[in-house]
Amino acid sequence: MTDTKPDLKGRLALVTGASRGIGYFLAKELAACGAHVIAVARTVGGLEELDDEIKTAGGEATLVPLDLTDMAGIDRIGGAIHERWGKLDIMVANAGILGVIAPLGHVEAKVFEKVMNINVTGTWRLIRTVDPLLRASDAGRAIVMSSGAAHSARAFWGPYAASKAAVEAMARSWADETKNMPLRVNSVNPGATRTAMRAQAMPGEDPETLPHPSEVAAKILPLASPELTETGLIFDVKKNHFTRYQMPQ
Ligand code: NDP
Repeated sequence: MTDTKPDLKGRLALVTGASRGIGYFLAKELAACGAHVIAVARTVGGLEELDDEIKTAGGEATLVPLDLTDMAGIDRIGGAIHERWGKLDIMVANAGILGVIAPLGHVEAKVFEKVMNINVTGTWRLIRTVDPLLRASDAGRAIVMSSGAAHSARAFWGPYAASKAAVEAMARSWADETKNMPLRVNSVNPGATRTAMRAQAMPGEDPETLPHPSEVAAKILPLASPELTETGLIFDVKKNHFTRYQMPQ
């Protein structure tokens, strides 16, 4: 993908999980390109830090402190955007949790349900509320954060891997539903990134060996461009290109 930054002046971007990690830096990149960023997460301190950085750089943000297990709260985001702006140009469904790294037989029901609730149901609920708003944009762009785990399906990563396979399937169905309109929907595999989630998954790993989330965010940014043509694909950040899906053989 090109390293040229997209012109997002006058565009509206919603980013979940914007209080830290990949979402924080992607929100910053989008704002630096001119987008007004709606930043969603629970941690007000992280959102305020993002807001300070965006405003210092001359950008604009609206903060939405919300727990994404609050499904009615997710619905309200769509209603509020509709009333104030009437459309949404960019949606980044980035918030997610790992749950636990453990054999499937040892996973507690409440942990499994939480992973599915935040990663899958929360993402679907967000898609449902912003779908008409993205369709109202002349260049709607949806970016759904997945993981290599959806495909590698390694031992002990079961709940997380299942949740990411589910969001990719949803993104592909949504892309197919909207393929004849300007809306473009893609998943992203960011690859191992120096964040709190990765440290939870791999506590013995030296974080300094991993790319910083700002580097990863910069590679994802072109997926928000009004010039983007691809839809229904997965973007591999490490390879810096889109990968096509195929039926298992
Ligand atoms: P972090 O743990 O650093 O950040 C996760 C973000 O999600 C935080 O902003 C957090 O905000 C938000 N979040 C979590 N739970 C909730 C909730 N209940 N309600 C609202 N927001 C919530 O994760 P990363 O930046 O590493 O991950 C971002 C995305 O990238 C995830 O979808 C992850 O699965 C994916 N990914 C990451 C990889 C990595 O190596 N880091 C590799 C592959 C995929 P808060 O706690 O403030 O609510």
